[in-house]
Amino acid sequence: LERLYSFMIRLRLAGGFLTAEQWEGLHHIAGDYSTGIIKITTRQTVQLHGIVKSHIKPTLQAFDKYKLDSICTCGDVNRNVTATAHPQVSPIHGEVFQLANDISILLLPKTRAYYEIWLDEAPLTTAEPEPDPLYENRYLPRKFKIGIAIPPSNDVDVYTNDIALVAIVEKGKIKGFNLAIGGGMGTTHGNAETYPRLATTIGYVPYKALKNALQNAEIPDVLEKNPLLKAVYEVLTVQRDFGNRVDRKLSRLKYTVDKLGVEGFKAELEKRIGFKLEPAKPVNLTHRTDDYGWHQNHAGLWYYTAFVENGRVLDDENVQFKTAFLAIAQARKANFRFSCNQNLILSDIKTEDKAWIEAVLAKHGISQLTENASVVRKSAIACVSFNTCPLALAEGQRYLPDLITKIEPILVKHKLQKDDISIRMTGCPNGCARPYAAEIGFVGTHYGRYNLMLGAKPDGTRLNRLYKESLNETEILGELDTLFGQYAKQRKSKESFGDFVQRTVFEG
Ligand code: SF4
Repeated sequence: LERLYSFMIRLRLAGGFLTAEQWEGLHHIAGDYSTGIIKITTRQTVQLHGIVKSHIKPTLQAFDKYKLDSICTCGDVNRNVTATAHPQVSPIHGEVFQLANDISILLLPKTRAYYEIWLDEAPLTTAEPEPDPLYENRYLPRKFKIGIAIPPSNDVDVYTNDIALVAIVEKGKIKGFNLAIGGGMGTTHGNAETYPRLATTIGYVPYKALKNALQNAEIPDVLEKNPLLKAVYEVLTVQRDFGNRVDRKLSRLKYTVDKLGVEGFKAELEKRIGFKLEPAKPVNLTHRTDDYGWHQNHAGLWYYTAFVENGRVLDDENVQFKTAFLAIAQARKANFRFSCNQNLILSDIKTEDKAWIEAVLAKHGISQLTENASVVRKSAIACVSFNTCPLALAEGQRYLPDLITKIEPILVKHKLQKDDISIRMTGCPNGCARPYAAEIGFVGTHYGRYNLMLGAKPDGTRLNRLYKESLNETEILGELDTLFGQYAKQRKSKESFGDFVQRTVFEG
């Protein structure tokens, strides 16, 4: 008798977007084949858990009916491309969303294996396939992540990506992008050679959107016409050729950048792209949190950002996310977008439909939750961890809500309840919820114990540092009580908690 293996399936959704029809499909597929919970991830997509082996193929075939796939959502390839989520920055947002899609398609492997194995597509030929032009016969040394930010929002936590693109906007138009390389969160406990790193900006590339750039065009032509896509593509080829293929713990791009040196990497990249990067432009990123509630864009359409704690879309006695979102999807009154903070944005709503959607959100407790949850709760994110992630050492999303319930009164005690302090938790040092970029990061070491990491910048431009190792809950709450008390009394004007800890603890 075979073991009852169960799997997770994640969608490839560059920029994090589903139509109403696709959401309706996802809702039913989740119910038919998984635990039923739709999980919004920290990389702007959705995943389903608890899919038994015999349900993998029907699940992927069902997604295909809605033109959705799971290609490159795992493995040593370019993963889901993230982009600033909120369309209130339109029309720039539309252009960036298109760029995210273009990059995602450009960096897909050319193999048809997914279609042959899961969708029963007949093999095109029995001959040995040509090597992939990008991945050749070996893929990348490790997974690869790309994020695109539109300042002043840094909701994508752009510098935590292997490639960070930051839009340079002048007079309402995108002129180009600053290019940064070598971000990455994962570390390994006890391995001093591993570390988290933020991407280093190496220059600026002008950009002109090409409509349908990737349709019916050969890759070399696309790259010649678009310097930005060429630069992105060739960063991957440098990593492919110079990345560490011996030790997977040291194989992300960040280690390649540090091995070659930033200038050495840049020189190799410029040799491959055939032009010099221009000096980086100044950028001003101000925040990483989502803009909750209602907003209207330049074209008069409405957007509602709902707080979904740790991205878990389900129904319980207080809030019925699944019921509400299904009703809205079935009425075809909104599209669905996801943020890297694991929240959901109901999108593209006409003014005449707004009141109806408001009523649905209120009926199912969503607007009340979004309005009334504390500031820190709405800024917090956690990884999946137990009971579905095999790498987990400590709890993540199942525990952080309870811990925040215990942190909230301490903040009230010190009159800090209005302060937007980022809290992130992961069940292991892989860092899926980007804990090293949080003002307060919890990284699981053993069951019930976490490394307490402090001092990141709220805009995502400085990592935190290890403050105390392997604390239990009582120790965590004691440390935070002391630190919050000092912060409340000694902080400078407008000084964030992360900056305060950096100044008084690490530099003091
Ligand atoms: Fe990622 Fe580790 Fe959390 Fe698993 S336990 S989801 S690998 S951070």
